[in-house]
Amino acid sequence: MPCVSISAQGLLSEKNNFTRQDTLRGSITPERSWWDLNYYHLDIKVDPDKKFISGKNTIQYTVLKDHSVMQIDLQAPLNLTKAIQNDKELKIKHDGNAHFINLIEKQKIGDIYTIEIHYQGNPKEAVRAPWDGGISWKKDQNGNHFVASSCQGLGASVWWPCKDHMYDEVDSMLISVNVPKNLMNVSNGRLRRVEQYTDTKTYSWFVKNPINNYGVNINIGDYANFSEVYNGLGGHLDMDYYVLKDNLEKAKEQFKQAPKMMKAFEHWFGQYPFYADSFKLVEVPYLGMEHQSSVTYGNGYKNGYLGNDLSGTGWGLKFDFIIIHEAGHEWFANNITNKDAADMWIHEGFTTYSENLFLDYYYGKKASADYVIGTRKNIQNDRPLIGHYGVNSEGSGDMYYKGANMLHTLRQLIEDDEKWRQILRGLNKDFFHQTVTTQQIENYLSDKTGIDLTEFFNQYLRTTKIPTLEYAIDKNELKYRWTHIVDKFDMPIQVRINGNEQWLFPKSDWQKITSELNIVSFEVDRDFYIDVNKL
Ligand SMILES: [Zn+2]
Repeated sequence: MPCVSISAQGLLSEKNNFTRQDTLRGSITPERSWWDLNYYHLDIKVDPDKKFISGKNTIQYTVLKDHSVMQIDLQAPLNLTKAIQNDKELKIKHDGNAHFINLIEKQKIGDIYTIEIHYQGNPKEAVRAPWDGGISWKKDQNGNHFVASSCQGLGASVWWPCKDHMYDEVDSMLISVNVPKNLMNVSNGRLRRVEQYTDTKTYSWFVKNPINNYGVNINIGDYANFSEVYNGLGGHLDMDYYVLKDNLEKAKEQFKQAPKMMKAFEHWFGQYPFYADSFKLVEVPYLGMEHQSSVTYGNGYKNGYLGNDLSGTGWGLKFDFIIIHEAGHEWFANNITNKDAADMWIHEGFTTYSENLFLDYYYGKKASADYVIGTRKNIQNDRPLIGHYGVNSEGSGDMYYKGANMLHTLRQLIEDDEKWRQILRGLNKDFFHQTVTTQQIENYLSDKTGIDLTEFFNQYLRTTKIPTLEYAIDKNELKYRWTHIVDKFDMPIQVRINGNEQWLFPKSDWQKITSELNIVSFEVDRDFYIDVNKL
C-alpha cells in the first residue's frame, strides 16, 4: 500500500496489548493448519444503494492432518449465516470474527473437500482507505455509484469469509460479483463472463495464479476500458485499463507510464509474475493499492504522491507514485508475500526501493541515489521494522523509507550492480509465488552476496538505532569506530580521505589509519544510511 499520508497518520499507531482475537486472526491456529487452500469461488451480490453484500464463498481444500473443526474468518458487522458440506448444514461456534465450523464428514488426509460459506450484511465502511479500509461507497462526478474494497492489515474477512492469514494463498480463484446493470465490476485476473439479468449483471473474473487475501478486490463503477499488448520477458502481456468514463483522455496520457514501469521492473526484478492473469490499472475512489493483477489507482492523474515529491529532490515528480509503487508490489507483496504481517517490510521495503530503481533505469544512478537519500527525512526510527509475530501486527512505517535505504546501503556493500540485479531477479525466481519469512530473505541475501548479513539485518530491521561512525583526525592520523550498534556489527563503509576513495572497516573499538599527508578532508559516502559524528 502507499506509505501513509500526513493526513492519515495516527491511524497506524502502535498497538502493544494483543487480545485473543488478535491471536485468532494472526496465528496459524490448529483449526487453520490442518487444511490447505486450493480454490475459492466468491459469488456475491453488491447493492450500493443499501451498502449491502450477500452471497457465498465456496472453498475447496486438501486435508493435511486429522481434524474436524475448521476456522473461517468474517468480521462483524457481517454475519456468517450458514456453512454447508455435502448438502448438510453444519454447526458453527462464533467467536468474535473467527467462526469454528464442526465438520460431520470424516476428513481423510490427502483428499479434497468443498465447503460453502454463506454470509450477508453491511460491511465496515472504509474510514480512510486504503489504510483504514473496508468498503468505500462513493459516487462519481455524474452521481453514479463508485465502490471499492481495500483491506490490507485489516484483512479480507472485513468483506468476505476466508482463511484470513497470509501463510496460505489460494491456488486460483473465481470472483463473481452481481451489480446494478449500469455499472461494471472489475476484480483480479481475467473477465471470464458477464451474465445479464433484468436489473443487474454478474461479472465473473478468474485468477489463475496464487493470490493473497488482501490482494482480492472488487471495484464497481461506470468504467471505460482501453488496453495494449506489451512485449515483455514472458511474451505478450495484456495491459488493461479501467477508468471512469470522464477520465478516459487523461488516463490515456498518464498510463503511458505503465509500460515504462513494466520495462524497468522486468529489467531489475525479472519477468512480471502474472502474465496469465494480465496486468490492469483500475481507477478507485481512494489513493491506490497493490491488488494483484488489478492494481488500483486514485492518484488524480498527476505525478508524484498526490502531486507531491516525497524525496524533496524533484525526482519524485518524474513519475506517478501510485503507478510505480503499487505496480512494484506485483514482485514484492504479490509474487513474494510475507507469511506473517510482522514481516511486511518485505513488501514495503523492497517496493519503496523499486521507486529509485525505476529512476535508475530512466535517469541514471545519481538521480536514483538522490531520490532514495532524499526520502531519509521521512524516517522516524520510532520502532523496529519488524512487528510482533502471530498477532497480525505490522512493524514501523519506517519499513518504507528505512527499508529502501537499508537496501540502497546493501547495494553499496555488494559493489557490483549487475550482481545485485541478478540477486533481485533471483529472489523473484526462487521465491516465485511463495509466502516467506524475514529469515528466508536474510539467508538468501547472505548466501547470494557472500557477505554474512546477520548483524546488518539485526541492526536495521530489529533496532531503531542508526549506526554512528565516530571519528577524530589528528594531523595524518584517523581514528574511528562504530557506536549505536548491535553486538558484532562491523559493516564496512566507503569514505574519501583527501579526495581518495577507500573502504574503512570500523568495529566497536577504535581503529586507526595513518595517511602519508595530513588529513585535510574526510567524507563518508552518502549512499550509506548511517550517522557520522566527528569528535
Ligand atoms: Zn506499498
